Amino acid sequence: MTPRAAVEVSNYDVETDVLVVGYGAAGASAAFEAALAGARVLIIDRAGGPGGASAMSGGEIYLGGGTPIQLACGYDDTPAAMAAFLKAALGAGADAAKIDEYSAGSVEHFHWLVDRGVPFKPTLWDAPSWVPPTDDGLMWLGENSWPFTESATPAPRGHRPTANDFGGRLLMQCLTEAAESAGATTLFDTAATTLIIAEDGAVIGVVAKRYGREITIRARRAVVLTTGGFVDNDAMLAAHAPQLLGHTKVSAGTDDGSGIRMGQALGAQVRHMSAGQVGMSLIPGLAARGMVVNAVGRRFINEDTYPGRIGQAALFRQNMGGSWAGDDTAIWVIVDEEGFEDVPENQRWGVQPTHVAETPSELEQLTGLPTGSLVDAIRRYNESATAGIDLDHHKSPRWLRPLTPPLAAIDVKLGIRPPAEAGDRRGTGASVFTLGGLHTDLDGHVLDLDGHRIPGLFAAGRAANGLHGTGYISGTSLGDGTFFGRRAGTAAARNA
Ligand SMILES: Cc1cc2nc3c(=O)[nH]c(=O)nc-3n(C[C@H](O)[C@H](O)[C@H](O)COP(=O)(O)OP(=O)(O)OC[C@H]3O[C@@H](n4cnc5c(N)ncnc54)[C@H](O)[C@@H]3O)c2cc1C
Repeated sequence: MTPRAAVEVSNYDVETDVLVVGYGAAGASAAFEAALAGARVLIIDRAGGPGGASAMSGGEIYLGGGTPIQLACGYDDTPAAMAAFLKAALGAGADAAKIDEYSAGSVEHFHWLVDRGVPFKPTLWDAPSWVPPTDDGLMWLGENSWPFTESATPAPRGHRPTANDFGGRLLMQCLTEAAESAGATTLFDTAATTLIIAEDGAVIGVVAKRYGREITIRARRAVVLTTGGFVDNDAMLAAHAPQLLGHTKVSAGTDDGSGIRMGQALGAQVRHMSAGQVGMSLIPGLAARGMVVNAVGRRFINEDTYPGRIGQAALFRQNMGGSWAGDDTAIWVIVDEEGFEDVPENQRWGVQPTHVAETPSELEQLTGLPTGSLVDAIRRYNESATAGIDLDHHKSPRWLRPLTPPLAAIDVKLGIRPPAEAGDRRGTGASVFTLGGLHTDLDGHVLDLDGHRIPGLFAAGRAANGLHGTGYISGTSLGDGTFFGRRAGTAAARNA
């Protein structure tokens, strides 16, 4: 990782103006803009082709401020409302300046995606879901649930490319076609290992490994790191985000943090390295129609919220109102027959009740929850539901209904099986990826420990910290990766 001095490099195997390292959504967006700005652009990727986690993803992109899809669905959103929501939802330390910029530029970014061929259908999926089973172009991502309903005018902002279920592949097809049509060239099976620096400290290239051989690449204008996060690197997780260790990794297996470490080796600042997305292995539609309880049989959050917040609340013990000993992801979804049947089978992702019982106390015994805990929780929940107001956790009255036997308990540790995946349900109770990374400014320049730009070095996507503080909302990863990837590409092309 230690940067290599240019004087030690006797020749360059390849030369370009802008070198983009990593060909996911952030890399493709950076490459497109850099090529459009007139630079010769080379994209390298350690994999045999483009895609990364971006191609595996749901394709949800967080956009708002009054996009044509929102307007067609009857929502007159504003950048201010979008920014207010993101500042609250992306947690302590969220980057307010980036959120303002992102929200103000969101409608333009929507049109940019459409111009690159990404289709969005002007219809709304109106229920909690990880990935709706339809091709609806818009979905809620917690904007209409407490506490955000109190601080920002709700509008759905999850924009989905027109694909049933997961849309990441379609998104990446459009972005790679755009980047390569604009003139970007590619070199696969090529993993960057070290940055090359000039005498004045500017980054002027990389050393890479290709089929076991070292090659050197000269970047006359800049290097853009878009290598993804570090969830596949257990040593980095242990050092920075130990709570994410041991959980299902949400990645293409290439998130080894190499881009982040190359930047750090040069004195780059990193931010929020302990933050992570925590997808609890539950079906949001079932959770919203029932209760979610922890290992001591207590509810701990409004179940109609963005489901990643349920995972964060469990794993990071936020909003707990008390703690419990033992396993963070020992979480149960409690639902009755009507609630279970209300969610069509194709949205249940293979989930079946773990236990079914005729009474709350029988269910309590079957789950092994402490005596009286689940019985009390169900009684209290049903009192709230009958009164039409959730005094404990503010779940919307839309999803409040007394639970009536027979009752089912679903153990989230048994996992889920997204439609694109064959085989058994899988998981550890939580599926995670990292949000921390290199600290960048609004144009994607990587900043050093004093906040100064490191000459010639840019970053975007999960190699950078982007918008996020401690929180996450679906769509903000592809969203900030493509938005600030574009910025980084333009600035890299203009870099002297
Ligand atoms: C199943 C799933 C569903 C998801 N759903 C969503 C969603 O709906 N919305 C959302 O916003 N996010 C979603 N995410 C998260 C999101 O996909 C990622 O956070 C995002 O794609 C990261 O984009 P990126 O461009 O930074 O990295 P990636 O897309 O992972 O691209 C990084 C690339 O860099 C390459 N690379 C790494 N190191 C090197 C190196 N040293 N040299 C050369 N190449 C290197 C990798 O091979 C990879 O191709 C999902 C993720 C998964 C896996």
